[in-house]
Amino acid sequence: MSKIKSINPYTGEVLKEFQSLSKDEIENCLSKAAKAYSTWKQVTFKDRAKLMKKAAEQLRKEQEKYAKIISQEMGKVIKEAKSEVEKCAWVCDYYAENAEEFLADEPINLPDGAKAKVSHEPIGTVLAVMPWNFPFWQVFRFAAPTLMAGNTGLLKHASNVPQCSLAIEEVFTKAGFPEGVFQSLIIGSKETNEIISDERIKAVTLTGSEKAGASVASEAAKNIKKAVLELGGSDPFIVLEDADLEEAAKIAVKARMINFGQSCIAAKRFIVVESVYDDFLKLFSKNLEDLKSGDPMDENSDFACMARTDLAMELFEQVEKSKKAGAKILMGGEKPEENSAVFKPTIITDIPKDSPAHKEELFGPVATIFSVKDEEEAIQLANDSEFGLGSSLWTKDMKKGEELAKKIESGAVFLNAMVASNPHLPFGGIKKSGFGRELSRYGILEFVNSKTVYLG
Ligand code: NAP
Repeated sequence: MSKIKSINPYTGEVLKEFQSLSKDEIENCLSKAAKAYSTWKQVTFKDRAKLMKKAAEQLRKEQEKYAKIISQEMGKVIKEAKSEVEKCAWVCDYYAENAEEFLADEPINLPDGAKAKVSHEPIGTVLAVMPWNFPFWQVFRFAAPTLMAGNTGLLKHASNVPQCSLAIEEVFTKAGFPEGVFQSLIIGSKETNEIISDERIKAVTLTGSEKAGASVASEAAKNIKKAVLELGGSDPFIVLEDADLEEAAKIAVKARMINFGQSCIAAKRFIVVESVYDDFLKLFSKNLEDLKSGDPMDENSDFACMARTDLAMELFEQVEKSKKAGAKILMGGEKPEENSAVFKPTIITDIPKDSPAHKEELFGPVATIFSVKDEEEAIQLANDSEFGLGSSLWTKDMKKGEELAKKIESGAVFLNAMVASNPHLPFGGIKKSGFGRELSRYGILEFVNSKTVYLG
């Protein structure tokens, strides 16, 4: 059995070590989840909602404690960690208040006068394989709809955030959810396939890299099980000639630097029409320089470090290769110190087509800025990516914005705003950013059996 370590990426300190679960312990969790499902599916929406509201209360009550666990374990600055915990409470409230209506029977009147309905029923235990970047939010946006629908959930969290994983289980336990409705499995990724193939697991959802997504979805397909995949992104942030440049450059920095750049929907490629390129670049650089680095636990820090030292090195290598291919490093780009997760915010311009900065996801504080002739070229470049998660487009002409939004290949387009997840809005990607949707009514419909009942 392997060890799972919780390490503070800012200090390098090993905070805790966990033994990964044994086969017997995993078996016990699977059986508890299946047993809990047999009764949980019969609990009324009203009673499930009461518990989900309690989970929201619990998150708010111990917000500081949970935020501290997040910041210490993956390096997010404390003010962002607190907002993350609050957002989790929001999604719990949202599904507590809306799940019953979302899953209400849908009557269908057939042309021959016959009647039918669609009823949305739970399917059983769903496995969630989750990443470290928003270690609470990613889990709650899965758990709130899934549990409200009457399913039970098992969480296999990223190996660098075991304390977050256990703290999330604690939220549901303290809220009073019956034993087995939500459990955290402290395991590595090797054990995942066997769990997916277990007959008690009915579906799987993964948020993470393409590689992990392909592996998990293949195993699910082999076992004829549904999978939802929320994978990487290389979101474009398009600035047209008539954009509010000051506002665009302010939000651009926020959109790139959220979670120190380690967000699937962070703006990663800034595509700017040449007539406003120089001005945008000046404003963007200035706004980026104004951010304050420091200890993640310091309320005044805007950014601290990446979540692991190996991730900082990987990002540096992508920057280096792009530089060797001819890209210009306008700011930052230095090699991280040995065994350090600290990384300098970086701006890259003049990016050659085949360089990593052009075609790969840069999962950290590195902005790539492109100059294009006009809006047509902007859309072409925006779509020249394997990914299709979110995109942001800036123009004062809303009619034109809506027309251009239709041409962008992504799961979401935000006009004059940064891409952000919100319980009310469906969230998910196309192309190599995955398939399926989370949040809103679309999210809760992913893990139900939408059953046709013909009323003859
Ligand atoms: P990752 O390495 O793919 O890990 C994600 C999860 O998958 C972890 O729990 C990991 O466990 C597990 N995993 C890795 N390989 C696996 C395998 N072969 N079989 C089963 N499970 C496996 O990704 P990450 O570095 O944590 O997250 C960064 C990536 O996630 C980025 O590409 C980012 O864009 C994407 N992301 C997407 C969204 C979205 O909503 N679309 C949101 C956030 C992040 P271990 O830690 O034990 O390896």
